[in-house]
Amino acid sequence: MPLPDAKHLSMPFSALGLSPDLLRAVSASGYLAPRPIQAAAIPAVLQGRDVLGAAPTGSGKTAAFALPLLQQLQQAPGDKPRRVRALILVPTRELSSQIGEAIRRLAKHLPRSLKVAIVFGGVSINPQMMGLRGGADIVVATPGRLLDLTAHNALVLSGVSVLVLDEADRLFDLGFSDEFGRILALLPPQRQNLFFSATFPPAVQALAQTLLRDPVRIDMLSEPQDRPDIVQRAMAVDARRRTQLLRHLIQENAWTQVLVFVATKHAAEIVADKLRKARINAEPFHGALSQGKRTQVLADFKASRLKVVIATDVAARGIDIAQLPVVVNYDLPRSALDYIHRIGRTGRAGESGVALSFVSADTEAHWRLIEKHQRLSLPCEHMAGFEPLPAAARAIAPPTGGVKGKRPSKKDKLREAAARG
Ligand code: AMP
Repeated sequence: MPLPDAKHLSMPFSALGLSPDLLRAVSASGYLAPRPIQAAAIPAVLQGRDVLGAAPTGSGKTAAFALPLLQQLQQAPGDKPRRVRALILVPTRELSSQIGEAIRRLAKHLPRSLKVAIVFGGVSINPQMMGLRGGADIVVATPGRLLDLTAHNALVLSGVSVLVLDEADRLFDLGFSDEFGRILALLPPQRQNLFFSATFPPAVQALAQTLLRDPVRIDMLSEPQDRPDIVQRAMAVDARRRTQLLRHLIQENAWTQVLVFVATKHAAEIVADKLRKARINAEPFHGALSQGKRTQVLADFKASRLKVVIATDVAARGIDIAQLPVVVNYDLPRSALDYIHRIGRTGRAGESGVALSFVSADTEAHWRLIEKHQRLSLPCEHMAGFEPLPAAARAIAPPTGGVKGKRPSKKDKLREAAARG
């Protein structure tokens, strides 16, 4: 069960203007007190205000917009067949399912049923078209598939009264700005806009400025005490020994579950494969896997049937796994933004977590940039037996790590030991 935020226990949900039905939904979810973003956003959304929320992943954003949205839709009678009244745009398939399911769970407690449609690409469009027959009150969608569905006349967006943009920075990062412009053109100009992002690069700031009318600004990023409880660590290791180190850490620390980030699909496959060979229950998770496989891996991970997931950034975005204790950056993220999102996978819902980044000679400068951006200065730890070789020795060191045909020979190992001094 999610833990309450002790310091906000004094502010009850009942003070925020929510209906008794939604207060029941809140307590059925096990939420004892509102998280700061909920305390700030719920009254503003209920008043019909636009919202600009700067909030890290895991801060409780979903309920912050979903609860007041459900209340508004419940109060205003809908049409028959249902017109789409609220549109929630998200960057990834997983986030679409996660948010849609969370809203359905909350909506179960309402006296008049509201239909929540979840749509995303990478799966057949037909079941989603069938699901939209008779309309829907709320649509949670990724941009590309939403446009496909409107092109098939499967849904009409001219009745949308509330637009939610979740993880807006990532929508832009993933190159959805064209699609987003086309979607905006299909929406009525008079509507409420709720805009959430973990970071505000110039493109996102410009969009917020044109899109929002006199928004209520909620900034959870500049309040360090409201950040999830994450212990950040960095560990120096030669690039070619990272898999061995990962294996060692998993076994030595008896980590129950680990989410490991790598840079490429190929690396995800290789590292997962090597861990499995060491009898560690691991699966890759990336955009080239079938939707069925992705769903299965995620379900197994959430149910703790799987110990390690090796994921790329795109695939693991926004995933909420309760009590995920450890995130490892096997490859460093490309940007400080990705770093925030990656480490936000742990330390969620009041649990503490560890985010460990592997730093090698060739990524050290990049790591310094991430640190600078994050205003961090972490000691770079060394693990006994995995200390990086000095630069000169690295240059002559043979590759290791179990690539077939390239295992170090006895002679290689002796040479490496000699180089280490
Ligand atoms: P989100 O940022 O919406 O993905 O939420 C992160 C996690 O916090 C989810 O597991 C939610 O169920 C949980 N959560 C949201 N609101 C609360 C609350 N008021 N009290 C405890 N847990 C919460």
